[in-house]
Amino acid sequence: MADKTLTRIPESPKVGMVSLGCPKALVDSERILTRLRADGYAMSADYAGADVVLVNTCGFLDSAKEESLAAIGEAMAENGRVIVTGCMGNEAEAIRARFPDVLAVTGAHQYEQVVDAVHVAAPPTRGPFVDLIPAGADGEVKLTPRHYSYLKISEGCNHSCAFCIIPDLRGKLSSRRIDAVLREAEKLVAAGTKELLVISQDTSAYGVDTKHEAQMWKGREVRAHMTDLARELGQLRTPEGHAPWVRMHYVYPYPHVDAIIPLMAEGLLTPYLDIPFQHAAPNVLRAMKRPANEAKVLERIKAWREICPDLAIRSSFVVGFPGETEEDFQYLLDWLDEAQLDRVGGFRFEPVEGAQANDLPNPVPEEVKEDRYRRLMEKTEAISAARLQRKVGRVIPVIIDEVGEPDEDGDIGATGRSQADAPEIDGQVLLRDVSPELRAGDIVSVLVEEADAHDLFGVVVES
Ligand code: SF4
Repeated sequence: MADKTLTRIPESPKVGMVSLGCPKALVDSERILTRLRADGYAMSADYAGADVVLVNTCGFLDSAKEESLAAIGEAMAENGRVIVTGCMGNEAEAIRARFPDVLAVTGAHQYEQVVDAVHVAAPPTRGPFVDLIPAGADGEVKLTPRHYSYLKISEGCNHSCAFCIIPDLRGKLSSRRIDAVLREAEKLVAAGTKELLVISQDTSAYGVDTKHEAQMWKGREVRAHMTDLARELGQLRTPEGHAPWVRMHYVYPYPHVDAIIPLMAEGLLTPYLDIPFQHAAPNVLRAMKRPANEAKVLERIKAWREICPDLAIRSSFVVGFPGETEEDFQYLLDWLDEAQLDRVGGFRFEPVEGAQANDLPNPVPEEVKEDRYRRLMEKTEAISAARLQRKVGRVIPVIIDEVGEPDEDGDIGATGRSQADAPEIDGQVLLRDVSPELRAGDIVSVLVEEADAHDLFGVVVES
């Protein structure tokens, strides 16, 4: 029987997809799959292996409707757990009359509702140990608004960090073809995405498994490699001719990461790096079996900031890993004083069923973990507050996430993010007196008037 003190993480659910119809429907299918892939769902190539099957239908002509109904019928017969979407979804009654047991029917371009229906039919594997996408404050999976999209470039991981079970759950690193990733990114941007969030378990290792296999893209050869990917994503343009923001997550500080910093300085990539350091003390990193664990990281961070002074670095740290001594913890605090990271998330070590770390000696008592967690948060908040204070008085680009309703004086507020803020995990920029014309996804210039430990406050100076 499983040990009740261990956190148990179930396997990822599998989704099958049948996509019929026009190129617009195909974009919807891609958006749905993009999001589901990012949520940790695996794709099933056949009906039998799928926990749920999505049928994206076409209802343009009678013959297309017949084809759609036939596809739903086949999916019902072969699997039985079916969600219908697409143009024919607008005729929900006709579908339900013929197939009363379909799980959900949603209309064309309602990709948020489809993803929601999948979450209900086959709940995603959640938890801080496997999530690539942050959950909302209430722990719910949030759907991304249309102006930003997660772009998953690979699945699995070749490392064997002692606290992690991803390689067991998701297997070894399996990178997507670079042309498939770029095509998906291009479609997302054409469909209204203003910000791409590149995710994987180990973004710097992209393509290692395929020996960085090259493909033709726009008449040139591009390799499945993080630097090629970054350069090509930096060439994308929105329908209005603007460069989308491109944010890199889960980047381990392998030497080739140095090559993407100049791309940030040139404006091709958002000057933001999410590097899950997890610790700084050599003993603890060794015990954790962390990749790219090398002594010169502080020097490299300094060099990166010389090349790109606006670079924001986010990271996460685990306190209370078995064997972590007070000296190790103090080493981490001193290291943070030097590294001056912009954003930090903290976790208290927790054993996860199947992880090697569970067998390590010298567990850290819970009250010590709590105390270290509090001290870590105090330290990183003070650093964040000082770094945000330096932005007061500057004009910075801000992407709008939400525009409020007018208050009793008719003033409208809005919430956005600077280039240093990824959605859900970092801070916000709170704007006063915005134009009623402002929309989610707009990128505006903002004069920063104030800052606290997490957020900035300001006013739009140019749309
Ligand atoms: S790098 Fe380590 S922590 Fe990250 S997925 Fe791989 S094994 Fe897990």
